[in-house]
Amino acid sequence: MDDHQLLRYSRQIMLPQLDIAGQQRLIQSHALIIGLGGLGSPVAMYLAAAGVGQLTLVDFDTVDLSNLQRQIVHSHNDIGRAKVDSAADTLHALNPDININTLDKKLTDETLIQAVQQADVVIDACDNFATRFAINQACVSTHTPLVSGAAIRLEGQVSVFPNAPGKAANAPCYRCLYDDIPETEAGCSETGVLAPLVGIIGSIQATEAIKLLSGLGTSLAGRLLTLDASTLEFREIRLRRDPQCPACGRPQDLSA
Ligand SMILES: [Zn+2]
Repeated sequence: MDDHQLLRYSRQIMLPQLDIAGQQRLIQSHALIIGLGGLGSPVAMYLAAAGVGQLTLVDFDTVDLSNLQRQIVHSHNDIGRAKVDSAADTLHALNPDININTLDKKLTDETLIQAVQQADVVIDACDNFATRFAINQACVSTHTPLVSGAAIRLEGQVSVFPNAPGKAANAPCYRCLYDDIPETEAGCSETGVLAPLVGIIGSIQATEAIKLLSGLGTSLAGRLLTLDASTLEFREIRLRRDPQCPACGRPQDLSA
């Protein structure tokens, strides 16, 4: 680290739990952020500002006027631009020290696995179950930690799935939470979402990603944190692995 980096990250390095070693780990880390919308905006901005050395941004969408109420990585002048380009400009302006890769496309199963394999942590900031399940499957297959978040209306949820091989294999994956793909899936274009709610959930995702990458603290693994913004009540639900899970269930479990 040079003097500028020591100064830039000084308030983080001061934390004894992080220290120079933790900051160095962040600088050497690679985070994959899927979705540069309401959740991906604060995730990307905090990871960039905190000095995660390499960010890969994935989104196939362009910036729309109706996004700007909550997708704070984009500005009015970005309307019509690819979200990954708009986000990359904002992040470079925040921190020119980091490397940013952009993927302006929908990832196939194969390209998703490739992208996940190269990352130290994956942040799911997408807006639909089909993509969440595909991201989870890629993370389970490659043993890549996943930080998952979702927010709609006045409700949000967030959790961490380490997907570690070996002993921790008894831990649940994201797919363990769901019996089936929920049939009716409302998006925020139909039901709405409160602007700062995605900021809260996204900021928790960024916190957990930084913890995983730097080795700080105890992660949300095995716990689903939910927030009802109408009452500002957080709840915590213990998660269990589903032995029949189509994503992480073992073959003998599936045949049982
Ligand atoms: Zn599972």
